[in-house]
Amino acid sequence: MSSSVDKIKERLGIVDLIGSYIKLDRAGNSFKARCPFHNEKTPSFFVSPERDSYYCFGCGAKGDIFTFVEEFEGLDFRGALKVLAERAGVELVSENPKFRDEREKLFEAMEESTVFFEHNLSVASEASDYLKKRGLSDKTIKEWRIGYAPPLWNNLENHLKTKGFSASQMEKAGLVKKDGGRSYDRFRGRIIFPIFDSSGRVIAFSGRILRDDGKSAKYLNSPETELFSKSRVLYGFDRAKLAIKRMDYSILVEGQMDLIMCHQAGYVNAVASSGTALTANHLEILKRLSNRVITAFDADNAGFNASARAWQIALSLGMEVKIAELSKGFDPAELILKNKEKWAMSLKESKHIIDFYLDRVLSEESDRRKIAMKIKDKVLPFISALESNIEKSHFVTKIADTAQIKEESIWADLKQVKIVANDEFASGNAKILRKDDEPQALRKDSILRRIAGILFWQESKDKPFALLDKAKENLKNIIGEKDFNELSQTPESSKDKLIFEAEVYYADNKVAEKDLGNLILSLEEEYLKIKLDSAIKELHDAERVKSGEDELRKILNKCQSLVKQLEGLKKIGK
Ligand SMILES: [Zn+2]
Repeated sequence: MSSSVDKIKERLGIVDLIGSYIKLDRAGNSFKARCPFHNEKTPSFFVSPERDSYYCFGCGAKGDIFTFVEEFEGLDFRGALKVLAERAGVELVSENPKFRDEREKLFEAMEESTVFFEHNLSVASEASDYLKKRGLSDKTIKEWRIGYAPPLWNNLENHLKTKGFSASQMEKAGLVKKDGGRSYDRFRGRIIFPIFDSSGRVIAFSGRILRDDGKSAKYLNSPETELFSKSRVLYGFDRAKLAIKRMDYSILVEGQMDLIMCHQAGYVNAVASSGTALTANHLEILKRLSNRVITAFDADNAGFNASARAWQIALSLGMEVKIAELSKGFDPAELILKNKEKWAMSLKESKHIIDFYLDRVLSEESDRRKIAMKIKDKVLPFISALESNIEKSHFVTKIADTAQIKEESIWADLKQVKIVANDEFASGNAKILRKDDEPQALRKDSILRRIAGILFWQESKDKPFALLDKAKENLKNIIGEKDFNELSQTPESSKDKLIFEAEVYYADNKVAEKDLGNLILSLEEEYLKIKLDSAIKELHDAERVKSGEDELRKILNKCQSLVKQLEGLKKIGK
């Protein structure tokens, strides 16, 4: 085994490998990025090509390409090995079956069952006719390894027995159920969709009933097993992951048919929550690859509403959530089959989730008082969840304009909206829920420290870079004369330390000069954000003591002007 690992490590550089998952920026001899394993705004995740490893100063994540793929894709070591071997073009030597552990046996049982179901489908015309009628091509059926379980009680069980699997393995894999002394196949009379882990191994099945008898559930999934945890698995993720990264957004649909039809039609960045409500873990998986998600659910559908809280969490993590509205009564699979152009259009015209709910309230109600109440109920929870105050202000203004409600009272209502408590969220301890806990003041200080380091370093040189004087001028404007003078009087011993840091960090002037410009922009942004926070607080206080209209208007104007300045900065930054 170790020889395959070495070969893979020789062929795949850690920078290229990690760089294929997240965006890396050069930082001296290393590379840095925002950590994919905890939520942060300033990069503290470093990759060192020399040491062939990565390390995060924020959460302590560390390791090599194998641990990275394990953590990032939610795989065990063998799964990561499979993913990396395929990428490196290294053939894995199959192990001696004697050394396979119980977990491996479960994977084998799933694989053997998949082959068995695939074979059954090839001889069951009713089942394959159904799939063709729904629009799946032969190629698609083969690629997604769709199969069929005939309506027999011990078909799979008997087959697996002849292949040497034990009763307990079949039960542990969720394939066979026990009822008293009797055992029987879990999936009977169903079209079988294998569910894959991120490395493409089958870990579960979802079975759709072929002949609806009105009694059985339309869809039946594997139970939670050692291999399968439904709150962590997105159907289609193994095929969509690279496209999500490349296209920088994911499409989220609900069912297996929706998902497969998406991929068949070329929407290869689609994944499905596969019949369960969206969880924080699902979001964590998607957010690592892209911050943007378009969801194409039928909005009147129960599954969609069950996910409302997940969407609020997504917004609170700074994700952009859009909704593609489908024609009434259509799910993505049917729409793609019957009217591909309309499907493409609904994706293109997808709306921000807050705009979507706002438009909905406005189209449903005409009474002003009812509109205000519904907005508070249906729209404000999403606004309250937004991570950024700039975005909050943007939507508050928008509601005020379109619904003719005073901005002040929207802000007041917003304060009463219960913030989504992460611990209420069913799926528990997804790592992503650890918010960036670096307070704004500290973030400001650490940026300032780096700026000071570069400035002192350049001042100590015979030939500092040209930008130096201009940068000092800008800095003085941002932090004010008093703080600037204090900074200039930093004692020599502290100066030396900062100079040393800057020298180690920046090999050459050019990079430092460019970075200094960016750092000053970030600093200005932090200062404006702190001002905006306190202005919004001032606004709330003014409302509480019922200040006069003029006073409120004045504070509101201040907020708006700060938001404008912040938006202006963002444009320069780009
Ligand atoms: Zn981290």
